Amino acid sequence: MTKSIKNPTRRQLFGLAASAGVAAALGAHASASTPVPTKARIVIIGAGAGGTALANRLVRRLEGAEITLLDPRVQHLYQPGLTLVAAGLKPADYVLSQTGDWLPDGVTLIPEKAAAIDPEAKTVATESGQSLAYDFLVVAPGLVLDHDAIEGFSLDMVGQNGIGALYAGPEYAARTWQAASKFTEEGGVGLFTRPETEMKCAGAPLKHTFLIDDIAKRAGNGGKIDVQYAAPQTSLFGVPIVAEKVRMLFGDRGITSHMQHQLQGIDADRRRARFSTPDGSVELDYDYIHVIPPQRAPEVVRQSGLSWADKWTDQGWVECDMASLRHLRYPEIWALGDVAGVPKGKTAASVKWQVPVVEDGLVAAITGTDPTQTYNGYTSCPMITQIGRAMLVEFDYNDNLVPSFPGIIAPLEELWISWLMKEVALKATYNAMLRGRA
Ligand SMILES: Cc1cc2nc3c(=O)[nH]c(=O)nc-3n(C[C@H](O)[C@H](O)[C@H](O)COP(=O)(O)OP(=O)(O)OC[C@H]3O[C@@H](n4cnc5c(N)ncnc54)[C@H](O)[C@@H]3O)c2cc1C
Repeated sequence: MTKSIKNPTRRQLFGLAASAGVAAALGAHASASTPVPTKARIVIIGAGAGGTALANRLVRRLEGAEITLLDPRVQHLYQPGLTLVAAGLKPADYVLSQTGDWLPDGVTLIPEKAAAIDPEAKTVATESGQSLAYDFLVVAPGLVLDHDAIEGFSLDMVGQNGIGALYAGPEYAARTWQAASKFTEEGGVGLFTRPETEMKCAGAPLKHTFLIDDIAKRAGNGGKIDVQYAAPQTSLFGVPIVAEKVRMLFGDRGITSHMQHQLQGIDADRRRARFSTPDGSVELDYDYIHVIPPQRAPEVVRQSGLSWADKWTDQGWVECDMASLRHLRYPEIWALGDVAGVPKGKTAASVKWQVPVVEDGLVAAITGTDPTQTYNGYTSCPMITQIGRAMLVEFDYNDNLVPSFPGIIAPLEELWISWLMKEVALKATYNAMLRGRA
């Protein structure tokens, strides 16, 4: 009989977090079936969270397949850690590892960018001009940050004059902390933004806001700061019940919000930011600003004719079925991860649930059977609200909350256990996922 934990002690909770990581690591989806013999040529574009996890699983699942991964990036980035780096809680190298260290024997890594995809001829051209023919293609190159879209902003500004941009990578996240920590000490107006486009980890702009506010208050400088959050959307989070919770937290903490404010540009000398709003252009002063630029599918995807023609036309996400992730016009192609044109799911947590679906679809295509697995839009966001406290927000395509630990971890409560999930268990689970074990 399962023993229920009604009022768990700290020790029990720690055990739970650890076992959650292990449970996920051993996850229900780890495939143990006999390898399928095949000579299929499979090309995977991108060796990030999705591409790496899938390659590890396919190597175990298939025998004789020719699996080729394309990615020029030598270093693998554990992106969820960037939030912690930008709050001075982890060093920049916390998020870094070597791409090659995660890849199994039996796949060929070509350290180049995919420069063109021809879905009619079923070939991928690399930057150096190699042409790779495929039977099946998985498009998993993540997304690109369009920093140029913010007038007056460039990445070399990050870390100085009160400018942060934590999405840009570990070095920039560390520089973001330089600027943000100055704000937590000296005070002034802190202006936290997010883009109008779809974005990865939509909770991250809020996490940064909450953490920097908390750090300033802990340092006794709460009276010196004026924290403001500006977003193009009409609500603070895409899931209504979560938006309401965040609105209440903002109220409790004295954080002001400016909705329907889309960052257009900054004047770094005058420390002013310009936003477009339904009522025209508005300027706001800042002492610290956090810039998260618009996000789009990489150019190679947009040029290949794989994007939706009638949705997200400025962003170019891959046209695919939201349950199977299979391309709607090219059945030998799947989208995986941030690049997928589905209504939710630009998180590593989503990738964890998408990878088995793509694996299942691909193996079914090889064996000529029907796929059995579908993706329900699961995404999760351990939303840090202060140091040592987070809400473990999990939801699906229908905005239903789908808690992994119902009755134990309340999704909308600020809990230490949920913080632990982000701080400790998430990386372990992420690493297990990369190995194809979660
Ligand atoms: C600040 C921040 C905080 C986050 N916090 C969380 C969190 O708390 N929880 C969570 O679950 N998720 C979080 N995420 C999101 C998560 O990291 C991403 O959703 C996940 O990494 C997406 O995986 P992916 O494989 O689609 O893309 P990526 O992991 O970004 O990998 C894409 C890979 O493709 C390669 N590539 C790009 N173009 C090409 C090309 N033309 N040819 C070949 N290769 C190419 C890149 O070099 C890269 O290695 C966060 C992200 C950020 C930025």
